Amino acid sequence: MSSDSNKRPDYSMDSFLVHGAMRDEHWDYASHVIPPITASTAFRLASTERGAAGFATFASPEHTGPGKSPIYIYERLAEPTVALLEHQFAELEGTKSATAFASGMAAISGVMLAVCKAGDDIVAHKTIYGCTYSLFTTWLPRFGMPVQFGDFRDVESIRSLIKPTTRVLYFETPANPTLDIIDVQAVAALAKEINASRPKAEALYVVVDNTFATPYCQRPATLGADVVVHSLTKNCMGFGTDMAGLAAHPLELHSAIRMVRKDFGGAVASRAAWNIHVYGISTLAIRMQRQNKSALEVAKYLEAHPQVKKVFYPGLESHAGHEVAKRQMCGFDGEFAPGLMVYFELAGEPAVAYEGAKRFMDHVANNSYCLTLAVSLGNTKTLIEAPALMTHSAYDPESAAKAGMSVAGIRLSIGLENPQDIIRDLESGFGAM
Ligand SMILES: *Cc1c(COP(=O)(O)O)cnc(C)c1O
Repeated sequence: MSSDSNKRPDYSMDSFLVHGAMRDEHWDYASHVIPPITASTAFRLASTERGAAGFATFASPEHTGPGKSPIYIYERLAEPTVALLEHQFAELEGTKSATAFASGMAAISGVMLAVCKAGDDIVAHKTIYGCTYSLFTTWLPRFGMPVQFGDFRDVESIRSLIKPTTRVLYFETPANPTLDIIDVQAVAALAKEINASRPKAEALYVVVDNTFATPYCQRPATLGADVVVHSLTKNCMGFGTDMAGLAAHPLELHSAIRMVRKDFGGAVASRAAWNIHVYGISTLAIRMQRQNKSALEVAKYLEAHPQVKKVFYPGLESHAGHEVAKRQMCGFDGEFAPGLMVYFELAGEPAVAYEGAKRFMDHVANNSYCLTLAVSLGNTKTLIEAPALMTHSAYDPESAAKAGMSVAGIRLSIGLENPQDIIRDLESGFGAM
């Protein structure tokens, strides 16, 4: 490999996670083993002409897309440490460009504002992250962008929800928290069919939240999705220390998404981008391999447990989406990679199961070594929470029930501990019910 290559070298993706590009026009770090973190909010401009050119070109894909040397002006517009992360994600997700944001929610709202205007609407899967649901039911409608919810597990059933004004089909797969699996290729095929009779300016975009899977387990753009959004705060950061989000997108959206980031202000701090680039991404493959394996072991234990009504984990044959997951969730070497999230419901009548779930989690919160009662996910530590009461409390009880969430539902994010120790602490929780 030539040392001036800015392309992904002809090595495996696992190695690309560790090294990134050898050189990158976004920052010349030829003499650094680890790329430097920049801490300058403004950039010296050699002439007013260069300053003017910087403003004129900052969001243009010809000047700032992958492989291009941008003129840096101000941190909120574009920043070299952040650019390294964006460049690496465009490669990982297989898109032409990527834009990082301050959080997952900044990325999701940014994409919606870049793609839709008042009068357009969105069709979304009914089970999604609680704050995304709140964005879709509270805020986007106030801007004249209503959201309808359907069941994307039956792709044909959403056809009737799509109107000429619909601009986005939105879903998570696996979905937070119930781990519904949605066939990305089938949704993309439906969008393609509809777009065949639409002018390009009214195109329908397929937007997939890939937070649960990460680009290690699944690359939705390679399956036909147009935009992939992430909460990098979770699995991609991996250590629970930094918040960020990202949209991987086609060049045609580059300018609009960058303009939204500039004017709505959801730019990510260089320190967070650097931590994710240096610590999170370089360890992504090894963490996901270990955590996937442990999650399957925990899911099998729970499935055999008499106090558990049902376990939802795409790696289990009993999961309704198992076959689709086997097709679309695979690591770089092609091995099945169903992720590190497990959702389960306790047995018993709803009211009894609800009381049991609270006792279970309160016991775990105070007595276990490996299980931490906390929201978020994709940490080195195993996290446990009650979605209906916590992360998804934006859902009213009726909508939560429709979305498949039970008040006796428990979500686990499997960490890097020995899986037998995780099971030992779960067993102690069952003993306290
Ligand atoms: C946490 C989460 C988000 C939001 O990300 P933040 O970084 O917390 O803003 C979006 N989607 C999913 C699936 C999430 O789990």
